[in-house]
Amino acid sequence: MTARHAAGTTGKRRLMDTLTGIAGRADFFNALDIEIREHEQKDSTLAVVLLNIKGFRTINSVYGYSAADQILQQVAERIQSVKRQQDIAGRVGIDEFALVLLNLKSPHLAGLAANKLIASLEEIFLDDGSPVDIKIHIGIAVFPEHGTTSDALMQQADVALHTARDTWQAYQIANNSQLTEASSSELVHDLEHAISNSELELHYQPKVDLHELRLLGAEALMRWESPEHGLVSPDTFIPLAEDNGLIFPLTLWSLNTALRQGVEIRRLWPDFRMAVNLSASTLTEYELIELVMRALRTWGTAPDKLMIEVTESAIMKNPEASIKTLQGLRELGVKLSIDDFGTGYSSFSYLKQLPVHELKIDQSFVMGMATDVNDTRIVQTMINLGQNFELSVIAEGIEDEETLYQLASMGCHHGQGYYISRPLTRERFLQWVQDSEWTRTPLPEPSS
Ligand code: C2E
Ligand code: MG
Ligand code: MG
Repeated sequence: MTARHAAGTTGKRRLMDTLTGIAGRADFFNALDIEIREHEQKDSTLAVVLLNIKGFRTINSVYGYSAADQILQQVAERIQSVKRQQDIAGRVGIDEFALVLLNLKSPHLAGLAANKLIASLEEIFLDDGSPVDIKIHIGIAVFPEHGTTSDALMQQADVALHTARDTWQAYQIANNSQLTEASSSELVHDLEHAISNSELELHYQPKVDLHELRLLGAEALMRWESPEHGLVSPDTFIPLAEDNGLIFPLTLWSLNTALRQGVEIRRLWPDFRMAVNLSASTLTEYELIELVMRALRTWGTAPDKLMIEVTESAIMKNPEASIKTLQGLRELGVKLSIDDFGTGYSSFSYLKQLPVHELKIDQSFVMGMATDVNDTRIVQTMINLGQNFELSVIAEGIEDEETLYQLASMGCHHGQGYYISRPLTRERFLQWVQDSEWTRTPLPEPSS
């Protein structure tokens, strides 16, 4: 924190938190207000990262107040030690801390900061040296996207934090706050209309082999170009569909569209494997396996030419039921991938039971490799984990050549990211398959 921030703007006494020595709530809000105004003038972006210690009341009663204070002090110290010098840290509640990330180049970097905080808080020790296992949840809101005042940003970060807690994720970035309650019900209505009137389309992003430098398949990513709302991100409309009973028709549509278009792509690239994302609530629907089987039959697709991606946090919402569904899908012969790996809270006891073929390392770690050796270490650990479990490992979010070759040398099998290609419309993807250097290496001869 700069001297100006520490002193506040009103000339009043500094409002430091006496226990942890970092800014207290009032001082933090003050500093945030100033930065919002400055960022507005510079036309740049900042993010508020709100962090809550899970079950702090229980910590108080189990370890006692003195130990609980030591934990708070250590959390504050760790936050101070991992934050960039210019960023602002504060204690904003009994068990809540916040960080303002200044001059953010991309909102994704806020996710990276969240992962760093989580990693730094993995091992907490009391003064007597005994370890304490704490869990934290993080909510993130970005200026100006999610709010233009300190109150609005903190509120959005708080909502995101609760979502993270309810969905077993370590952190969550706020949804687009321009969607007020009223407009979100309008959006649900329009989404219903979009599903039945083909306003949705799938874009395709290649997945490649990093050693053979060859196309393997693509991930189908949903797009909604709404006449009323413009381009609505899947991060916004998929949770909405989940909450309003629309996810099943949406999933059926994407599965069938992807498999139909996969037939066309395989005429150019016979080995092509199509990846489709499944969201949390469909994982507990017993009908899902039957529907996947029917879709494969309809489009004459061999089961191993379909990969289903499920996020780690979706599985952890209801692990037992999800594992059953995944087992059923595996028995069909479909390939399975754990998406956004590293951002959920799955334990080894669940990991060993997951009948999956692929680990997909979350993009926040991959993007961080260029600047942070700790991210490289985490990625290497995940690659080793995948190898030990005999899973193939794919890294998503590869944005530059250096990261691509580094991942290959670290033993990562597959890759995906803007450096290889952004998600493309069906037409542009078909063109890409014909022109790309990733399809120059011929396919191996089919074994008869
Ligand atoms: P995901 O499955 O983890 O997909 C990866 C997201 O990262 C995509 O965003 C993709 O466009 C983006 N991405 C890929 N490479 C890079 C890169 O190098 N740099 C950066 N900055 N971003 C990259 P998108 O398309 O907005 O999708 C967001 C999420 O929405 C997906 O995350 C997935 O969870 C969900 N989603 C998308 N389509 C579907 C769908 O058909 N069904 C379901 N259930 N969920 C979907
Ligand atoms: Mg995915
Ligand atoms: Mg992902």
